[in-house]
Amino acid sequence: MDKSSNLIPAVRFENVSRHFGEVKAVDDVSLEIHDGEFFSMLGPSGSGKTTCLRLIAGFEQPNLGSIFLHGARVNELPPYARDVNTVFQDYALFPHMSVEENVGYGLMVKKVAKAERTRRVQETLELVRLPQMAKRKPSQLSGGQRQRIALARALVNRPRVLLLDEPLGALDLKLRQEMQIELKEIQKQVGITFVFVTHDQEEALTMSDRIAVFNAGRVEQIGAPAEIYEHPQTAFVAGFVGTSNLVHSQVAQKLTGSNETFSIRPEKIRMVEPGTQVQNGWTALDGAVREVVYLGMLTRYIVAIEGGGELTVVRQNLDETSMDVLRARGKRVQLTWQRTFDRVLDQA
Ligand code: ATP
Repeated sequence: MDKSSNLIPAVRFENVSRHFGEVKAVDDVSLEIHDGEFFSMLGPSGSGKTTCLRLIAGFEQPNLGSIFLHGARVNELPPYARDVNTVFQDYALFPHMSVEENVGYGLMVKKVAKAERTRRVQETLELVRLPQMAKRKPSQLSGGQRQRIALARALVNRPRVLLLDEPLGALDLKLRQEMQIELKEIQKQVGITFVFVTHDQEEALTMSDRIAVFNAGRVEQIGAPAEIYEHPQTAFVAGFVGTSNLVHSQVAQKLTGSNETFSIRPEKIRMVEPGTQVQNGWTALDGAVREVVYLGMLTRYIVAIEGGGELTVVRQNLDETSMDVLRARGKRVQLTWQRTFDRVLDQA
């Protein structure tokens, strides 16, 4: 591939809207997905992620705006004419076919010769690390293995863009975490643009080069995982990606001299004895621990602040036992954090 083609986005939305009657499923979305990147669409249920994916695949048409794939406008192009493939959460494998028949199905439809088909199916099964499963039926596989076969079936044609709609949603947490790492490795290996839909922020943070955060049919923010996490631009992003404290009005005024709302992550706040001297550039707020939630590896403390409001603080249980942490309930404390960690949010 020549270098200039890398500069043309794999997918581009220009003011795209898709409305279903009164429902604005996708509402004036503009975005660019770079060629070869792992791009996630993250948002709560009903925020428009799947509709965006279906618009890219051609299963839906926009009411307004334009969609481009590798520089060409595709609004009127049917799904089969787009160099795009989809992996669904429910696998959608053919139950009566073996693994190799499932994976090779698309090649057979395209009338690829048998020898070439066998070679490409084997190569793709190796890519998803299941080369020995070719003869099995889907019912003889575990959930994780089935999802890998679904992935192999979508990859065997080497589409330029792969769309993945919550593909790990049906797996248990441990398997899901393993598959997240594997999926990212496979994507790097094949270099295909992946567009990944999820409502799981940890999943998006783990795998993505960039994330678009969706809310009610609109994109709130697009950026690399660290940028989204450390510099949320809106209260919605601060709350949806990780947990965040929002500090409003009087307390904000006291700390910053302005009543603009800002966010601070629970893990950035230290809880110290009242009256502890703090360094320049650190806050000092007095409060009392209202609630303690012991989470095994971590403890979450909810602290009522003098002057109004509550802040959540998360601490790793390095030296404390569960008995120690629970004794903190009711205790007077001072909260302190480096001011460089708090973020003023765009006002809605
Ligand atoms: P989930 O994570 O639950 O799949 P999502 O973010 O993918 O949610 P969409 O499936 O894109 O959200 O749906 C966005 C909105 O559009 C929802 O309110 C949904 O009910 C509505 N919607 C989607 N498809 C249709 C349709 N074919 N007809 C009517 N309304 C629809």
